[in-house]
This record gives sequence, structure tokens and C-alpha cells, in this order.
Amino acid sequence: MTDPVQQAAKPFRPLSRRVVAWALLYSTLVTLLMTAVLIGVDYHEERTAALDQLRFAAASYRKSLANSLWDLDMAAVRLQMDGLASFPMVGHAVLTTTIGQNVHAHKRSTALLLDHGSEHDPADSLSWREPLVSPFNPDLVVGHLHLYVDRPAFLHHIETGAMRILTGEAIKGLVLCLLIAWLIGRLVTRHLSHMAAQVAQLHPTALGQGLGLQRHERRHEDELDQLCGAFNQLNRQLAEYIDNKRTMEDELRQHRDRLSEMVGERTRSLERLRGFHGLIIRVLTRFINLPPGHANEAVDHGLSAFGDYFGARRCLLYTYNMEAHGFTVANAWPPLNDDSDWKGSFLSDDVLPRRMLADRRTRVWLCGDRKSNPEDLLPALLGCDAYTAVGVEVKGNTVGLLCLAGRAILQENENATLLELAARVSANMLDHKAAQMTLLDTQQALQKANRELHSLSRHDSLTGLANRRHFDEMKEVEFRRAIRADSPLSVLMVDIDEFKRYNDNYGHAQGDRCLQALAELLTPLFNRAGELLARLGGEEFVVLLPNTGPEQAQVLAERIREATWDAHIPHESSNVADRVTVSVGVACLKHGLHQDFDSLLQDADLALYRAKNGRNRTVLAE
Ligand code: GH3
Ligand code: MG
Ligand code: MG
Repeated sequence: MTDPVQQAAKPFRPLSRRVVAWALLYSTLVTLLMTAVLIGVDYHEERTAALDQLRFAAASYRKSLANSLWDLDMAAVRLQMDGLASFPMVGHAVLTTTIGQNVHAHKRSTALLLDHGSEHDPADSLSWREPLVSPFNPDLVVGHLHLYVDRPAFLHHIETGAMRILTGEAIKGLVLCLLIAWLIGRLVTRHLSHMAAQVAQLHPTALGQGLGLQRHERRHEDELDQLCGAFNQLNRQLAEYIDNKRTMEDELRQHRDRLSEMVGERTRSLERLRGFHGLIIRVLTRFINLPPGHANEAVDHGLSAFGDYFGARRCLLYTYNMEAHGFTVANAWPPLNDDSDWKGSFLSDDVLPRRMLADRRTRVWLCGDRKSNPEDLLPALLGCDAYTAVGVEVKGNTVGLLCLAGRAILQENENATLLELAARVSANMLDHKAAQMTLLDTQQALQKANRELHSLSRHDSLTGLANRRHFDEMKEVEFRRAIRADSPLSVLMVDIDEFKRYNDNYGHAQGDRCLQALAELLTPLFNRAGELLARLGGEEFVVLLPNTGPEQAQVLAERIREATWDAHIPHESSNVADRVTVSVGVACLKHGLHQDFDSLLQDADLALYRAKNGRNRTVLAE
């Protein structure tokens, strides 16, 4: 194909010029051919006419020439030959006698030539031969008459005719060419130039206005109309194509923009998801190595993180309470303070649609706002315009609700997935909390058991007083303190008088009850800090009195004795009195003398021994 750019670079030459050039060439060739043919025809006709004239001339002189020749009248022959030569088409006449003589007569030289040669061509196509017969005997030929056409005149005639034909054909051809050129110019070139000018103004952005021909209204179409129509059709199709292409490009652009928006949205969503995962990891990390008693704090932290993330005013975690028939708040962020806060701390089954809770196949998802559903009681209870409550499930059972107050998130919303994740984490948090509560309960029970065990190991099971072990612990402590502080320290040794007899008389069980009664009696007497009443074993008691000097110790010993006396516990078999009595030995720390507590205790024991001498008395060690 020719490159259009190269084509545009070529010089312009009108189409009509080429057509005229070709028409001229064609016309010339046709003219020449026609002229040749017509000249041939003309020659043939002229020759026939010339020969007819020769025949006519020969026929006119045939008899008279034969007579003259028969009579040998040569003058007459010459005259007649001249006459023949003067005929318009006769250029040369030759009479050949039977004896071989020739008489010539020319149009321009009328001399009579007699010769015996045959210089004339009897086969000349432009000649006529007429035999001359005797007037008396038609079978006797006396000579031959040869008439030749006047060639210059004949040729001149032919030439004239040829020139006329040539001129006529040339004029005809020229006129035809001019007519063709004019017609092409008027019918084709003008419109083509107009079309070219219109096409040159066309542009992909300004298609649609078709080509128009400046022609009169006609009943028929021609090739220009077809070209114009085809071009306009192409133009329309091109315009449609460009429109379609533009539409497709617009759609493609919109698709691309939409795709880019979707990619951006997805990226943001992934970013959010990543952020949310980080948040969940932070929330759950708090539960690892969680110190005892901090589970609530960790759950609150989780709720605050969720509430913050979802932009809620309040984030609440409820657990279902079977007995109360409703959800009770377990944790809340921010903490519930006043009464209005507490309105939403319990959501009864009447408030929540039970059927939703009963449906185990799908997660509970309650979402609403005051405007769209004025009958919904939850906004008022939660003190907000909108809310979202998502079921917290354990093994497919709804055990609680994660509630965002002030934020409505539809289940189809992108955040719903995250909120569902938060609900799962909440289940986990509740699980952790319950586990920690159980752990805490167990720990507390253990501690209590430990305390009891400890108490048991340090107390006398019968009387509830401190036992020897406890007393041994405390005596060292108090002894060192008294030594360190150079403070007084006294010890009272108490022994029931005649207790063997009591047992024997009332029985061992009653003896035990007597011991318990005495313990109860003496306990209120020693409630100052550091004072310790202990049962050392059997019916022996000891009292440790820090910061107590001899006088005070003796007073206290007397109080013991008096209190026992005043209790009136019967002891019929006693040799001392009709009631239970005690003897008390009192010993006080002497700094520098007593090196350890046992020596002090030994002194108290010695004082008791001395008190037993008589019984129902108190004795201070010396
Ligand atoms: P004294 O006036 O010299 O102290 O005479 P006593 O009988 O009280 O002294 P003794 O040491 O001879 O007897 C102590 C008795 O205390 C012997 C024992 O039967 C009794 N006894 C020791 N422990 C218990 C106890 O836990 N319960 C009872 N019911 N009796 C006990
Ligand atoms: Mg005793
Ligand atoms: Mg005794």
C-alpha cells in the first residue's frame, strides 16, 4: 500500500487532466484508425467511381474507335484518343492494335505516340481494358483500348477526402475530450474536491457530521452518491465506534477507579485488621502470667480497647444468669457509677428477643437505634441512641453478650467480622476470668485451710488456748525483746489443785469440761498486746506477761486465783475447798541473772511448787 504521508508529499495533478490526456490519446488513435478506415473506404469508392468513368468513357468511344481503326483512319483515332484523354478521370489512354502498335494519349500532352513496346502496365488496378472488335465481325478483335486513371487528380481527390475526414475526426475527438473534461470537472472532480475538503476537516473528536454533495435533487443515485453514502456510513460507524470506544474507555476507567478504590479499601481493611489483631494480642497478653485478682482489670482493659476501637461510648460484657432470667453485666468500660449507669446492668429476657438467643445456629447479633425502632427498650436502658450486642459463645451456646453502647454495627458491615472476633476474645476473657476466679477461690480456700492448720498446730484443741508450740515460739521472741529493750517480763505458772481427784470423782470428760471452763474464765484476763495464755499440758497453764513487773504479775496471779475461786466450779473430793482452786507460781525476769527463758520458767515452776504447799495461793519466786 502507498504510504499516505508519501502520497501527501506528491505534487497535485487534477484527475480530469489525466482523463483528458488519456481521452486525447484514445481519441487520436481512434481518429487515426477511423481516418485510415475511411480513407480505405473512400479510396475504394473513388476507385470504383473512377473505373466506372473509365468504363463509361471506353464504352462511349469503343465503336467509333473500332471503326476508325478498321478504316485505318489514324487522325480520327488520334482525335478520339484526345477526346478520351480529356475525360475528367482519364489520365492516360493507350490503344494497342493487333499488330502491336500503341497509340498514347495523355491529359496534359495530347501528342500521338506510336510505339511497339508495352510500357503501360496492363495489370494496373486503376485502369480499364476494352477490346475493340470489327464493326463487321464481332469476333474479330482489331485492338485494345487501355484507359488509366488520372493518378495525381485521383490522389489529390483521395487526399482531400482524407484531410476532411481527419479534420472532422480530430475536431470530434477534441470536442469529445473537452466535453469529457468539462463533465468530469462538473460531475466528479468538483464534488470530489469538495468531499476532500470536508474530509480534511474531519477529526476523531468531530465526527458525525456527514459529507454533503452540492448537487440538485435527482431521482437516481450514482457512484458519487454511493461513495458519499458509504463514506457517511463509515463515518457514522466510526463515530459509533469511537463513541463505543470512549464509553468503554470511560467504563474501563470507572472499573479501574473502582478496582483501585476496592484495592485501597481492602488495603485499609487489612491494615485495620492488622491493627485489630495487634490490639487483640495486647488484650490477650494481659492474661498471660496475670497476677491473682487482676482478671477483672484485664477484662476491663480489653473492653476499653474494644470500645475505643469501635468508637463506642461504652463497652459492656454480660453473662447469662439462668436464675435471674437475663444477662447481668460482668465488666464495663467505663466503670458503671451512678444509678442511671446501672439501669443497663441487667438485661432481662423480656427486653431481649429470646428467639434470637434460642437460635443456636447463628451468633446473636442485636443492632438498633432509637430512631429506626422507637419501641426498642435497649437504647433507653443503655443510655444511648444506638447499640450493638453480639453473642459471646462457648461451644455454640450463648453464655454472654458483648455490647457496644452508642454504636450500631450491622452484621453485614466490614467491622462486624472484627466485632465477632472481639466477641470470641470476650468469651476467652470470661473463660480466663472464671478460671482465675476459681483459682482465686481455691487459693483462698487453701489459705483458709492453711490458716486453720496453722492455728490448729499452735492451739490446744480442747481449750482453744495457745499450745506449748505456740508458747515456745513466743517465749523466745518476748525474752529477746525484753533483753534487748531491758524491759520487764513475767511468767505465771498455773496448776489446778487436786485435779486427779476431780477426774476420779467426776470422770475424765467432766475433767475436760472443767479445763475448758477455766480456759474461758482466764482468757478475758489477758488481752493486752503481747500477753499470752497457753496450756502447757494436763491441767497446767502458763501466762507470758511482757512489760510486766513483779507487782503487776502478782496482782494478775491473784486475779487468776480469785477468778477461779469466784467461778464456783464444784470439787467435792478436794482437800482444799468445795470448789476448784488453782495455785500460781510467779517469776519475773532478772536481767543479768536469767540467761534464757527456760531458767525463768524454771523459777516460776519452783514458785508454783512452793504455792502447792497449801494450795489455792500465789507465790512469787525469790
Ligand atoms: P496437785 O494438787 O498436787 O496438783 O494434785 P493433782 O492431782 O492435781 O496432781 P497430779 O499431777 O497428781 O495429777 C494430775 C492429773 O491431771 C492427772 C490426770 O488424770 C489429770 N489430767 C491430766 N491431763 C488431763 C486432761 O487432759 N483431762 C483430764 N480430764 N484430766 C487430765
Ligand atoms: Mg499438775
Ligand atoms: Mg494439779
